[in-house]
Amino acid sequence: MGESHDERVYEIKELGELPDGGGRYGVLGWPVSHSLSPAFQRAGFAALGIAAQYVKIAVPPEGLAEAVAVLKERQFSGWNCTLPHKVAMYDLVDERAPSAERLGGVNTVARKEDGRLCGFNTDGEGWLVAIRESFQVEVRDLRVMILGAGGAGRGLAVQAALEKCRRLVLVNRTIEKARELHEHLRTLLRTEPWEGSDQRIEIIPWDEDRIGQELGGIDLLVNATSVGLRPADSPLLPASLLLPSLLVYDTIYRPARTRLLQDAAKAGARVANGLGMLLHQGAASLSIWTGREAPTDAMRTALNSAAALS
Ligand code: NDP
Repeated sequence: MGESHDERVYEIKELGELPDGGGRYGVLGWPVSHSLSPAFQRAGFAALGIAAQYVKIAVPPEGLAEAVAVLKERQFSGWNCTLPHKVAMYDLVDERAPSAERLGGVNTVARKEDGRLCGFNTDGEGWLVAIRESFQVEVRDLRVMILGAGGAGRGLAVQAALEKCRRLVLVNRTIEKARELHEHLRTLLRTEPWEGSDQRIEIIPWDEDRIGQELGGIDLLVNATSVGLRPADSPLLPASLLLPSLLVYDTIYRPARTRLLQDAAKAGARVANGLGMLLHQGAASLSIWTGREAPTDAMRTALNSAAALS
């Protein structure tokens, strides 16, 4: 389609300018210009032989409810939402899949034939697939430490708990947020029983000595903080804490190698960045919209090219 390389960022009031034809999809964010989703979602639709547009839509937080009304009016079949909309979108859909309920947010919306909006969250599933693909292991077999309890850390902690991983250690600079997350997990685990979960989940303060002591008993260390996004950021952890036995996953993908990943690789650990998680959450969205298996090879090629150019 003529729009397949449309890098324009649309505002809600400009969506009337979209050409007719094909399904309409997009990503909502604020900001959204940096999003790599159009590049690989368009490749996914194209590989499936489906005519579709997928555009970037800039929506300020206070404009989200209006945006949803316009997307419905303009016959959008689905959309992704990224920062800062995942929690607010939860209340704007008509129904929520279990993934959205468990993670407490929505990153994928599908409009059903009757016009009702259904919210999903594919972030946790995307992370599981990324770990499997990067390290050839299953999260459920691992002792996991997650640094960060914001939106991303929360989603990964819920997913790790649902997987009943061998051990789950949560660390956050603001310890109250880690405690709240622990409470959320306890509530969740009442309906998703996890034997011995009281002993298996632990909250520890952001204290380098304490983190160092724990890391000896950890297989997978995950950075779900925003530290490392900027070149000037101080190291997330001292390099001396990083052991060769660790698998280290950074949810950050830009830069491709954060200081954490550089230090961990130097220490002999296996490392991977957040591109895999981005790819697989998007692949799961595409499957929801189309009812078909996502063409992940085509999507990955497009994502890698877009990431290399950005
Ligand atoms: P939030 O703003 O919700 O959370 C930020 C987290 O970073 C909090 O836990 C915060 O701790 C912590 N943090 C910030 N500064 C510091 C610091 N100096 N020292 C220690 N901890 C710090 O962001 P998100 O959870 O949405 O995003 C977190 C990361 O995940 C980002 O880097 C983002 O790029 C990545 N991400 C990747 C995705 C992917 O597909 N690969 C998808 C979504 C996110 P505190 O609570 O104390 O403030």
